[in-house]
Amino acid sequence: MKRNNLALVLSIVAQLGEASRADIIERSGLTQPAITRIVSELLEAGLLEEALATTTVAKRGRPATSLRLAQGRVYSIGVDTRLDRTTIIARCFAGVISHEEWHPGFADPTPEEFFGFIAERVRDIASRMDSRLAGVGIALPARFNDDRTRVENSPLWSWTDVDVLGEMTKRLDLEGVPVLFDHIWNAAAIANSRFLPVTKGARLAHVQVGYTVGIGLTHNGSRFSRFGCAATDFSHLPIQVEPWLPCPECRAPACLESRIGVRAIESRAREIGISMAGDPHAISRFCHELAEVAQGDDERARRALDIIKDAAQWSAQAAFMVATATGATAVTVGGYPEYLGDIFFEHFMAHVEDVMPHLLPLMRRFDHPAMSVDLDDRAAIIGAAVLGLEQMRTDPTVVMSGSVR
Ligand SMILES: [Zn+2]
Repeated sequence: MKRNNLALVLSIVAQLGEASRADIIERSGLTQPAITRIVSELLEAGLLEEALATTTVAKRGRPATSLRLAQGRVYSIGVDTRLDRTTIIARCFAGVISHEEWHPGFADPTPEEFFGFIAERVRDIASRMDSRLAGVGIALPARFNDDRTRVENSPLWSWTDVDVLGEMTKRLDLEGVPVLFDHIWNAAAIANSRFLPVTKGARLAHVQVGYTVGIGLTHNGSRFSRFGCAATDFSHLPIQVEPWLPCPECRAPACLESRIGVRAIESRAREIGISMAGDPHAISRFCHELAEVAQGDDERARRALDIIKDAAQWSAQAAFMVATATGATAVTVGGYPEYLGDIFFEHFMAHVEDVMPHLLPLMRRFDHPAMSVDLDDRAAIIGAAVLGLEQMRTDPTVVMSGSVR
């Protein structure tokens, strides 16, 4: 009960950004003495701090002292690995990113190589932080088992049935630090869902268009436990489109991935002289160049624009399917489209408006500029770091005992 109440108070403060004690009483349904005790315990543990009330309006004429999550006391490490890069961040539980590093993507690492590298980086970052590590969240391009401890396979690497939790924990060697895994699509959905007002029953679907076309899904801000499989199979949904673009993997005459996967986009762009280099910013630079060329008024510009419009329309189709199949109350789209920018999203939204206008209110990019625009293509890395706080979210006492390392 105590743990639940501590977690409840922290989640209320996290949702509001700044909260007065009155706000907490109102939203928690707990008594004033209970809140006084819990808040002082959280202040003492360094998880909450008093702030000068800036946004909170004093109620009933009393001056309000507001509370917020304490910056820099507890942090998590997030890892997000893609075709062109592996990103690692340290993010405090109040949301401040204090460390970030980018590495080139792994071609096809063995689990030993991959986790050897990640564990070494995590230990190094942890040794240089003066706050407490609450957990590590790792987002992988992979299909997982239901409890997200094993990778069944990966669209990017030749991994089959890998005990990822075991591989990582035996190399990490940091006592009591939980490691949590999920696929990058769920990680992105977790981050995006934190930018929605939390309403009961909220269901956010995220469509990530990248190397594959993946789906992440959250319910009340938490990931669904049984949604691992559909997320990777979705990429190979057969589609009827001319000209046919046979998919080497699923062998369909055309599928979502063979049409709008980043490799398909690049092979079309290569015909007009735009290709991808092999560095950690390859996808971002490629997309910026494609979008820039599309702004011109010659034949090359027209062909670049066609590629972008095609990607936007099929991404919108993918979003329709996901919205319909999941009954989502909000849909977000991320991945390389974020680097194409407005030119992509204008065509995306125009297609939604033409074909399924009733889904317009679900598409959250313009309603919530903070979501896709500010997170950029960073939703998965932020989500991985949020995943690293999962244990603390349900039981804050795990980081309240002992001294801050
Ligand atoms: Zn396919």
